[in-house]
Amino acid sequence: MNIVVCLKQVPATTEVKIDPQTNTLIRAGIKNIVNPYDTYALEEAIRLKERYGGTVTVISMGPPQAEQMLREAIACGADQAYLLSDRAFAGADTLATSYTLSLAIIRQVKECDLVICGKQSVDGDTGQVGPQLAQTLGFSFVSYVDNIEEVSSGKMRARRMIDEGHETVETSLPAVISVVKGLNVPRLPSLRGIMRAKNAVIPVLTAQQLDADPQLIGLTGSATKVVRIFSPERVCRGEKLTGDAEAQVDCLISKLRESGII
Ligand code: FAD
Repeated sequence: MNIVVCLKQVPATTEVKIDPQTNTLIRAGIKNIVNPYDTYALEEAIRLKERYGGTVTVISMGPPQAEQMLREAIACGADQAYLLSDRAFAGADTLATSYTLSLAIIRQVKECDLVICGKQSVDGDTGQVGPQLAQTLGFSFVSYVDNIEEVSSGKMRARRMIDEGHETVETSLPAVISVVKGLNVPRLPSLRGIMRAKNAVIPVLTAQQLDADPQLIGLTGSATKVVRIFSPERVCRGEKLTGDAEAQVDCLISKLRESGII
């Protein structure tokens, strides 16, 4: 099985700055981590490779510092990594992002049976890239996968989470799936993996190398624009109770009595 895992680097904190001009995250100079949901995607790809053979390729569209995240993925067992990095990609919305990722899959990976994404990123939080990637590639899509039961003769049977519980679906391959927490327990890199990752060559692909349509990438190629990002104002209508715990409880009871709640 040739599996591709999409890894996104996200800020390690919610204390992020927003560029007031473009309303996009200022990613430079802040500590970044791999999007937590993507660690389950990577682990599942490596388990499928161990079970069925094949290769695991990890790709990320992001700034040059995302290379370290890809190296760690190789240390955990990925075979190949590509970093899609170019100023022209900056400020992409999910449509432009999925178009760019699809080019790397079509032009570099070529043979792909399964693409695994996280359920959503913890910064943009849209959960749109997986389905859009499937649409762009012409692959089927299964969301919220929390167990892959079987892969055989060009089909995959998986269990997915739904509001009422679970449902089992069967899809033809190639497919894109998005995975949730609880699918597996991501492994730590092995010493051998770390050594292998240290010497791994991670091609950095630009818009030109991907032969990307400039009208479809980055801020210019984005169909949607984030108009404003802000933290909602905290309005505190309540009244602060003072005194020790005893006095606060008495005061609360009398207020509840006054308002007829008790
Ligand atoms: P999601 O769709 O939530 O990510 C799902 C999965 O796709 C990830 O787990 C990962 O496996 C894969 N993936 C996502 N991005 C990448 C990547 N760059 N490289 C590799 N794999 C990836 N864009 C919009 O179109 N609409 C919005 O409303 C919107 N709101 C935003 C709000 C904020 C606060 C921020 C920071 C960004 C927003 N964006 C929005 C931009 C959006 O974050 C980028 O387009 C991003 O590249 C993908 O969107 P996402 O983070 O929502 O990914």
